[in-house]
Amino acid sequence: MLCNCAAATSYGMKLNTPISQISHVGAAYARRLNRLGIREVKDLLFHFPSRYQDFSKVSPIGKVGIGETVTVVGKIIDIENTRTYKKKMNITEAILEDASGVIKAVWFNQPFLVQNLRPGLNAVLSGKTSFSNDSLFLSNPSYELVSSSGGELKHTGRLVPVYPETAGITSRWFRYIIKPLLELAEKIPEYLPEEILKRQSIPTLAKAIKDIHFPKTLAGAEAAKKRIAFGELFLIQTISLKERLKLKSVAAPKIKLDISLAKEFVSSLPFQLTDAQRATAWEILQDLEKPYPMNRLLEGDVGSGKTVVAALAALETIKSGYQVALMVPTEILAEQHFDGITKLLDPYRINTAILTRSAHKKNSQKIKYAPFKISKARVAKETKEGKIDIIIGTHSLIQETVQFANLGLIIIDEQHRFGVDQRAKLAKKKDQIPHLLSMTATPIPRTLSLAVYGDLDLSLIKQMPKGRKRIITKVVTPAGRDQTYKFIYEQVKKGRQAFVICPLIEESEKLEARAAKKEYEHLKNEVFPDLNISLIHGKMKGKEKEKIMQDFKDKESDILVSTSVVEVGIDIPNATTMIIEGAERFGLAQLYQFRGRVGRSEQQSYCFLFTDSTAKTTHQRLKALITAKNSFELAEEDLKIRGPGDFLGTRQSGMPSLAMASLSDLEFVKNVRWEVEQILDKDPNLKQNPLLRAKYEEFRKEIHFE
Ligand code: ADP
Ligand code: MG
Repeated sequence: MLCNCAAATSYGMKLNTPISQISHVGAAYARRLNRLGIREVKDLLFHFPSRYQDFSKVSPIGKVGIGETVTVVGKIIDIENTRTYKKKMNITEAILEDASGVIKAVWFNQPFLVQNLRPGLNAVLSGKTSFSNDSLFLSNPSYELVSSSGGELKHTGRLVPVYPETAGITSRWFRYIIKPLLELAEKIPEYLPEEILKRQSIPTLAKAIKDIHFPKTLAGAEAAKKRIAFGELFLIQTISLKERLKLKSVAAPKIKLDISLAKEFVSSLPFQLTDAQRATAWEILQDLEKPYPMNRLLEGDVGSGKTVVAALAALETIKSGYQVALMVPTEILAEQHFDGITKLLDPYRINTAILTRSAHKKNSQKIKYAPFKISKARVAKETKEGKIDIIIGTHSLIQETVQFANLGLIIIDEQHRFGVDQRAKLAKKKDQIPHLLSMTATPIPRTLSLAVYGDLDLSLIKQMPKGRKRIITKVVTPAGRDQTYKFIYEQVKKGRQAFVICPLIEESEKLEARAAKKEYEHLKNEVFPDLNISLIHGKMKGKEKEKIMQDFKDKESDILVSTSVVEVGIDIPNATTMIIEGAERFGLAQLYQFRGRVGRSEQQSYCFLFTDSTAKTTHQRLKALITAKNSFELAEEDLKIRGPGDFLGTRQSGMPSLAMASLSDLEFVKNVRWEVEQILDKDPNLKQNPLLRAKYEEFRKEIHFE
């Protein structure tokens, strides 16, 4: 049997042994591993390879052809280092021999190899062959020594795991450390019930962990990944379905539907509701009548008219004698909603208040039936006494400062979830949980809503109000840049404003902010020296951002340069043009969202997708944005092309990556959900499945998606 004589072992190790106690893991490596969130042996086992190299084809040296990926086994007959003159590169050349012939191997900048691969020793080399100077050679092959004392190959002669190259740790190192620890996989508790493993024909977690690192076949690796994704999705769905059960078991304020009031409201509007608005409003009003709390997500494109629907729900709630809280992500949005809602509910003698950190001018002007000029403290007091019917503010401010006399409905803009416990806290009443209406303009693909938002009922507005102008959208190559700038200049001279969105830089808000600054300087100094340009990015403080947005709204600048991380969820009808730089880096759904910031007035609006990419697929993808009928269509398309990462940032959500990847498979997601339903049906508190229960509790703490 082939063997690697390396000394790493799992002797004396446990799953929770700190990595620093693993042999060959010194302080420097421990620090690097910590940076990857790896602290214990168990975390290493859960650090999965991103792909495999297939070195399983073992060939006699004499039979090796050009450009093949092969494994050869033989004796090292020579090895030496040389240096190239010009490039100052270190080259190690070795000759390997077996009964059928000899082959050369070449490595770059690894001079230490001569100490390890000494002449006379037997070695296995895996890699791709090249041909130059009349000879065939293996270029930078993976290598390991062979001995007769047993043991398995790690780096050659098999499917070899390749780990994500991060934090300066090589795949070779991971293989070396992880392989001996895999024995411990047996100790990882199996939390899925056996009948599920049988029914789904999936391996145990222990087997999956072993196979995902060192699979015998690619099919084996796939089965292992599927098993792990199954488990993760199972836990995610357990969380959302348990939340659903919990909601059904508590009481809610009963909002008696007043049909004539609803009719009156609808007929008082200056426009006709779309069919989609009617249908969703009806779903919501029916939910409010139920004895348990509503948990509904209202999804509709930007501008599809979600606010009126929410206002009707608020009106019915208030007329049943309850209060409403409307929570939004920013203070500017709060003001926007305050203006909109007061206008809509004006005829109904309703006390509306806005709660902001800053001034309270708005309250003194607009609260019709509340006392004039009231302070933040007064707003809180009057809300507590039940005098204020609907209060609008940011999430944090409302949660920090307000108690309600009888909160009936919470409306949330642009945040999907608000758990039962959070609701209970806000309501300060143990026996009743308020209803929740969540609104979003983010189109969520079906698999994702099934898997992650399984506790939410969905209402979709798939239709825009009549008479909206289509936003003219164009893909612009570098050659068209100047002409587009000229066009924007003319638009500004006509009194319009423009957004410039800077390219997405994965996982670095800092780099993104820097790039945006550069773009801002460039536009300000070189392209539009006589226009007012402003800049906003994610590294700025909340207050600063709000001020810049407010100034832009007040037309104090003509062009706003923004990074992708900035919340531009605000209504600025005069901004009619948008440039998106590096458009190919964004998901379609994201581009769609950005574009929704223009096209909010009677003026014709434009969106220019700048790209340097000449790839045909890029242009096809961007074209989809021009042709898609609605964002839902686009979201499904996007999911197919790019995977679900754009909908839930992995990092923020703590959503495991294999579960994420599996979200493009609707059947799979449904299948998992079915299994969760079966279990919860029989055993809603998981009392009969203690291992599952323990794992679920642990997982719930780790994951925090909204
Ligand atoms: P969003 O869904 O993005 O929150 P809003 O509720 O802010 O959209 O509505 C956008 C604009 O469209 C508002 O000015 C609103 O008054 C208007 N609106 C809503 N419904 C209709 C309709 N059925 N017909 C015409 N205009 C409408
Ligand atoms: Mg809105």
